[in-house]
Amino acid sequence: MKILLLGKGGQVGWELQRALAPLGELTALDFDTPGALKADFSRPDTLAATVRAVNPDVIVNAAAHTAVDKAEGEPALARAINATGPGVLAREAAALGAWLVHYSTDYVFDGSGHAPRREDAPTGPLSVYGQTKLEAEELIRGSGCKHLILRTSWVYAARGGNFARTMLRLAGERDKLTVIDDQIGAPTGADLLADVSVHALRAALADTKLAGTYHAVAAGETSWHGYARFVIEWARARGHAIQVAPEAIEPVPTTAFPTPAKRPLNSRLSCDKLNQAFGLRMPAWQAGVERMLTEVLG
Ligand code: NDP
Repeated sequence: MKILLLGKGGQVGWELQRALAPLGELTALDFDTPGALKADFSRPDTLAATVRAVNPDVIVNAAAHTAVDKAEGEPALARAINATGPGVLAREAAALGAWLVHYSTDYVFDGSGHAPRREDAPTGPLSVYGQTKLEAEELIRGSGCKHLILRTSWVYAARGGNFARTMLRLAGERDKLTVIDDQIGAPTGADLLADVSVHALRAALADTKLAGTYHAVAAGETSWHGYARFVIEWARARGHAIQVAPEAIEPVPTTAFPTPAKRPLNSRLSCDKLNQAFGLRMPAWQAGVERMLTEVLG
């Protein structure tokens, strides 16, 4: 089986390189990979040639314009990378009879209410990022290709920068922190998402009826404030240099940190459909964060 992975250097792409490797012959590309094969989503028209050259059985797309605030100021680029490019992949996958695995986001929703959203809940993106990610979903569903669209949220990885690392750095420098407490979601590890992708893909390869859109996030919920407090308490309990006391992490509303892009307050996603379809049980968000902290801090 031939697999084409795009966006191999991102949080999820990096973990997918590991998780997809045993499934078949893997061609993994980034937009600046040296060699003849190019995967620059800012030039979506060039993606078709790459797909045709590799002739894959499965395309996995982890590339995206994920700078949510920046996307507000460059909607054409965000649309090319997040929507037009994935649309080309879907069209090519349909022509080849290949599978397309693609990632989407809770930002396709408006974040109203308090209940976890199911896959068929009405969408209502609040930002250019969310809108362009939704457009990709629609292009993929409309293309007729066999697909798995996995909507996730609050992705972190041990590699590169992440929210937990920023909180730990600030907690080492300051006596007090202010962190948003009215956005609720589930921090989800890129490693978990990559492993779930492979479990789902293997099942879908054996049963095409499993194609569709699924929510894939860690179990449980917290706010950014709860997440920060968990990370800081974990590090403090293990003797790491933390100046700020857990009670000096002040909860503030989203309105305290104005940003160009509006974010959903309710990022809760129900994984019932994923768990039932693929026989999975998503682990608690704390387990993955503890694992990441162990990797980062030792
Ligand atoms: P990252 O930003 O870590 O990775 C995205 C990858 O896309 C990077 O390797 C990036 O390269 C690459 N990329 C950017 N521009 C281009 C381009 N023009 N052509 C080709 N590649 C490009 O994202 P994640 O791994 O966190 O996200 C994976 C998926 O999950 C995405 O679909 C995202 O929308 C979705 N998602 C992510 C969430 C999160 O919290 N991060 C939450 C919900 C969904 P480079 O780094 O060099 O710019």
